[in-house]
Amino acid sequence: MLDFDFYSPEEEIVLPFYEEHGIRVFVKRDDLIHPYISGNKWRKLKYPLEEALLTNKKILVTFGGAWSNHLLATACAGAKFRFQTVGFVRGEGVQNPVLALCKLFGMQLHFVDRESYRNKPALFEKHFGHRDNAYFIDEGGYGEKGAWGVKDLLEEIKGVYDHCFCACGTGTTLAGLALGNSAMQLHGVPVLKGGEFIYEELRKLHADPLQVTLHLDYHLGGYAKSNAELQAFIQTFCQQTGIMIEPTYTGKLYYALHDLIAKDYFVKGSKILTIHTGGLTGLLGYL
Ligand SMILES: *Cc1c(COP(=O)(O)O)cnc(C)c1O
Repeated sequence: MLDFDFYSPEEEIVLPFYEEHGIRVFVKRDDLIHPYISGNKWRKLKYPLEEALLTNKKILVTFGGAWSNHLLATACAGAKFRFQTVGFVRGEGVQNPVLALCKLFGMQLHFVDRESYRNKPALFEKHFGHRDNAYFIDEGGYGEKGAWGVKDLLEEIKGVYDHCFCACGTGTTLAGLALGNSAMQLHGVPVLKGGEFIYEELRKLHADPLQVTLHLDYHLGGYAKSNAELQAFIQTFCQQTGIMIEPTYTGKLYYALHDLIAKDYFVKGSKILTIHTGGLTGLLGYL
C-alpha cells in the first residue's frame, strides 16, 4: 500500500573475538533501509502511515526529544508521502543538526516545556483536536501499530538463529519481535536507566515478557550517556567491521553483546542475530 521499496540484508559480522569464543553473530541491516527514515523508525511508522493515508489525514503530529531519530524519520516520511508534519519537541527551543534536517523536510517544530510534554494526547487535543485531518503518532513511534510493523521484519529473516538482540528505548521494537517470534531467545538491551519498565511495556503491547531477557546493566548512566570505554569500543567495532554504530543505541547493543560473550553467557556454537535499528544521525550529536 505504501510505495516504499527498501533494502535490509542479513549478513555475518566476522570478528576474531567471536570466532575465539565459538559464537557466530549476524546482523539484520535495517540501518540501510533509508538514511533518514531509518531502521526501526520505518518499521514503526509503516502502519500508522497507512492508516493516515486510508483515513485521509493530511497532518502527522508527533513528539520527541531534540535529538529524536523518530522526529526526523516522521519529517522525511511525511515529505515523501505528502503529509504536513508537526513535531512537538521536549524542552526549551534549541537548534541542532537533527532538528535542522527535520525543518529541511518541512516539519513545523513546537518546543514545549517538560510538564506539558508529558501529556501528549492533551497537547494533540489542544492544538489539533478541532481538526479532523490531523493524525497522532506517539513519541518514538511507540504503540501497537509500531510493534506490528517490527513483527513483519521476522518474515524477512532467512537464517536460523538461537538468539536475537535489539536495543530498547520504548520497548516497541522488542515487543514487535516478541509478537512474531517462536524459536529464538529474545534479548533487549535498554539504553535508559531503570529498563525493567520494558517488561511492563511488553505486556501492554500484548507481547509475552517471558520469552524475553533484558540486560539492564548496559545503559552506562542513562539515556545518551556514554563513556570512554564505549567510545573506544565503537571506534574498534566500526574499524573492524565497516558497519557504523553510534553511542545512544546500537553502540550499547554491541557493547553488551561483546561483554556477554566475554563472560561465556552463550554456549559454544550459538548463532546470534542482532537488529541494527539504524539511527546513525545520532552520531551528529557526538561530533
Ligand atoms: C528509537 C531507536 C531505538 C529504540 O526503539 P524502541 O522501539 O523505542 O525500543 C533503538 N535503536 C535506534 C537506533 C533507535 O533510533
